[in-house]
Amino acid sequence: MGISAANEIFDLTEAFVAPTYRRFPVALVRGKGVKVWDADGREYLDALAGIAVCNLGHCHPAVTAAIREQADRLVHVSNLYHIEPQARLAEALCRNSFADKVFFCNSGAEANEAAIKLARRYGHEVLGDEAKRIITMHQSFHGRTMATITATGQQKVKVGYNPLLEGFDYVPFNDLKAVREMVSARTCAVLVEPIQGEGGIVVPDDGYLEGLRQICDEKGILLILDEVQTGIGRTGRFFAYQHSSIEPDILTSAKALGNGFPIGALLATDRVIKYFGPGSHASTFGGNPLASAAALAVVETLEREGIIARAIGCGARLYAGLDELRRRFPAVVAEIRGRGLMVGADLKVPVAGVVGACLERGLLVGSAGDNTLRLTPPLIISEDEITAVLSLLAEVFSDVEQ
Ligand SMILES: *Cc1c(COP(=O)(O)O)cnc(C)c1O
Repeated sequence: MGISAANEIFDLTEAFVAPTYRRFPVALVRGKGVKVWDADGREYLDALAGIAVCNLGHCHPAVTAAIREQADRLVHVSNLYHIEPQARLAEALCRNSFADKVFFCNSGAEANEAAIKLARRYGHEVLGDEAKRIITMHQSFHGRTMATITATGQQKVKVGYNPLLEGFDYVPFNDLKAVREMVSARTCAVLVEPIQGEGGIVVPDDGYLEGLRQICDEKGILLILDEVQTGIGRTGRFFAYQHSSIEPDILTSAKALGNGFPIGALLATDRVIKYFGPGSHASTFGGNPLASAAALAVVETLEREGIIARAIGCGARLYAGLDELRRRFPAVVAEIRGRGLMVGADLKVPVAGVVGACLERGLLVGSAGDNTLRLTPPLIISEDEITAVLSLLAEVFSDVEQ
């Protein structure tokens, strides 16, 4: 490899950045819409969107303008004072969901931490002090803090971190009977992703969320939906639970909420959030003016431009195209799953090689679960861009089939 602008970045990363990530040898420096460019000027089509984050595409003008204007006016003051964009964002999130109130933080893991704390508080106040346990699902993913790795139903995130937190019980995803058998007088909540993301884009059967809601209602416990990945239009509704007939008690959001500006949120009903009184929980940066202004621009843009409805049509096109590739390359693709623009393809060849081959052809895609190719492009992706994604994938599948 010759001298390139990227080499200096690679060397600095290697020398000074913690080795927690296995990175591709690419340094992305600029983006617009569904395209990004690396330090050497090479263009890529982005069908991953920073792992389901840049739902409005890169550097959406409305979000960029909101960040720029807010950065000029006020960046941070703390939650000791009222914050206008935070208040407006809370109203916008409630207007688009079941929620009565919102607590703001900075990431998905933190939103789930807050949900775990609120559920325990609810147990303490309403159900009796022994009702503190939370049921979560095998192959789930809820974040990387101590509480959220414990909640996560995957062994690989827990290695070496004992002792973990007390109080979690695990059942298979999409198995209502297992939940029913696990619930006891010591349970305060069920925590579940409406579609498992990191677990491999796993869509539950119709009626699963309704069944969970029914169990929670019967037992008087809380239903918490982790919509960190499925939310903000990704599946073709503002939140994925809106495909079903139920509402949760608590919902967590992050990833696409700020279109890349870090922000997380816990949404809840008045019945539950009242146990989060003054002093019960806090975050210095949570909902600060800059993050809130970015997220408010995201929500208002989604509403104004009808982008979420587009995700349904584009998602159907992508899904159908992938299914066609499955028929054309039966030795490569096993199964397609997904909803809206959250789509996974189970592969019969190692997914890491496919992701690498896509990158070499200028296409950014991801992986999830054991061997699932993950496609979560920006919701603003055009028909031509979907066609381009599919034809690049066809080239790669054709190569690996040899
Ligand atoms: C990404 C993700 C998280 C963790 O979010 P962070 O912002 O990385 O802390 C939690 N839950 C789900 C479902 C996710 O996809």
